[in-house]
Amino acid sequence: MASRRLEDLHPYLANAYRRAAAEWDMAYPLLSKPFVTQTYRSNEEQNALYQQGVIDPKKKVTNAKGGQSLHNYYPSYAFDIAFVDGKNGKLDWSLDLFKKFAKIICRDQNIEWGGNWKSFKDNPHFGFKNYKWQDAAMGKQPNIPVV
Ligand SMILES: [Zn+2]
Repeated sequence: MASRRLEDLHPYLANAYRRAAAEWDMAYPLLSKPFVTQTYRSNEEQNALYQQGVIDPKKKVTNAKGGQSLHNYYPSYAFDIAFVDGKNGKLDWSLDLFKKFAKIICRDQNIEWGGNWKSFKDNPHFGFKNYKWQDAAMGKQPNIPVV
């Protein structure tokens, strides 16, 4: 089952997200607020997402098949976010918001933003830097301080 729980996210990333969200509230109290839309997702769910882009390229959200995303390992090595407007409760996908959030959380050099990817920009996506799904598949751990 796909999850949006921080408990299903690698604790290092969960802590980084909590800190960045707190900083966001201080820095941008009037802007839409970030929330996590996904942490872990199964290989089956990943394949379904992938197929969505094969069927209709306009709906493409990923290049990754099941097992080829850092979301497909447990606890998840990546998470996705969106923003919600506090006044009207509407979802907000403004690129500017993702850029601002990336600026905060990517001060941590161990974290990368999918908006910086070259082959397929994934603005809602954040995960470990210099760490690939192949590493996760081999059971290799990210090279980060222990939390
Ligand atoms: Zn993602």
